[in-house]
Amino acid sequence: MALESVAGAYWRGDETLPQLQRIYGTAWETPEQLEYYWQQKEEAKKRDHRKLGQELDLFSIQEDAGGGLVFWHPKGSRMRLLIEDYWRQAHLQGGYELLYTPHIANLALWKTSGHYDFYRENMFDQIEIENQSYQLKPMNCPFHVLTYQSHLHSYRELPIRWAELGTVYRYERSGVLHGLMRVRGFTQDDAHIFCLPEQVADEILGVLNLTEKILSDFGFSKYEVNLSTRPSKSVGNDGVWQLATDALISALNIKGWDYVVDEGGGAFYGPKIDIKIQDAIARLWQCSTIQVDFNLPERFNMEYVAADGSRQRPIMIHRAIFGSLERFFGILIENYAGDFPLWLAPVMVRVLVVSDRFRDYAKSIVQSLKQQNIRAEVDNTGERLGKQIRACELEKIPVTVVIGQRELDNQSLSVRTRSRGDIGTMTLPQLTEEILKANAAKSSSY
Ligand code: ZN
Repeated sequence: MALESVAGAYWRGDETLPQLQRIYGTAWETPEQLEYYWQQKEEAKKRDHRKLGQELDLFSIQEDAGGGLVFWHPKGSRMRLLIEDYWRQAHLQGGYELLYTPHIANLALWKTSGHYDFYRENMFDQIEIENQSYQLKPMNCPFHVLTYQSHLHSYRELPIRWAELGTVYRYERSGVLHGLMRVRGFTQDDAHIFCLPEQVADEILGVLNLTEKILSDFGFSKYEVNLSTRPSKSVGNDGVWQLATDALISALNIKGWDYVVDEGGGAFYGPKIDIKIQDAIARLWQCSTIQVDFNLPERFNMEYVAADGSRQRPIMIHRAIFGSLERFFGILIENYAGDFPLWLAPVMVRVLVVSDRFRDYAKSIVQSLKQQNIRAEVDNTGERLGKQIRACELEKIPVTVVIGQRELDNQSLSVRTRSRGDIGTMTLPQLTEEILKANAAKSSSY
């Protein structure tokens, strides 16, 4: 048992009543458990993405602009671009097409989708345009359905897999907003799959494979998986629920993933799989979700032309892997404690100069690294070398190059890396090749 903190509090929360002391404590069965709790708390504090985000100049939440809205600074934006580029590539290779859809739509759409009736408390107020109400989108799904409806589809075209980095806005009370983890505007790595009933199992397996590939490339290879089944109030017939639930189970079994069944915990419109990822200090974060939906295809009267010429309803699957880019970025910052692997580091290489005389040589090196898509910069602070090196350490820059007279004379580079310290001198082509290799391999350290 231990005391954690104290704070003043008014009796019954009423400031006219006497002020009291509120005491926060924690109790555990064994001293070891208490020690572990303290360590975890300390670690979490060091890794806090709000603190690191500011120290590393990655992002900010500007109170002047309103709470829960994220500003990505140049270094954070570079990382976002890397994440997005990676994500798009992985999806194109995985058989998806990419969509862009608007940020607002006529309220009538949200009435058809059911969001106006069942999700209104999370939606912002409408905007009036030419006497019509428009709604800022809280979800991307109806937009993908409309895109599907733009022409009639044959069974031969299915499965259709459409992905979008779709920015949505949801109302959250200001009291619950928290850094990048709980915000009012965020970009989902959303996708919808429209398929035949007999394709569901393969599609779910495909999603699990892609999820595993993407998450493990970002350094997450331990998951906790939940399968949520049919609740008492639901839409859709027994047959289709059985088919979808069996498809989820069979995909999980083929992957060989352990999972916990949340009996009756599914949405009213279909069963789902939720995946929590485990970070470097064994915390779990809910990220990926795969959800079968029998409701939206019904509400929008979606169809495809079957082999016998009849019109049939496709099955719709919603899925996100990161969940949202903002939240996943926060998790990445905390997982790596800001010490990102080379391939994600906003600055891969910083070139330091012993004095101004070497600045031109340093600039030419950076220029040549940039030509190879290596994120490099010159330290232009004019500080002493020791201070420049210290700044690289604080900013957790993976590779530091030092240029002095000897390096200029020999046309060489003195290189140090975060993980290996001083690694001696090398030529620019040697360094370039090594960095490109480590970058391609997504090595955790260089
Ligand atoms: Zn959706």
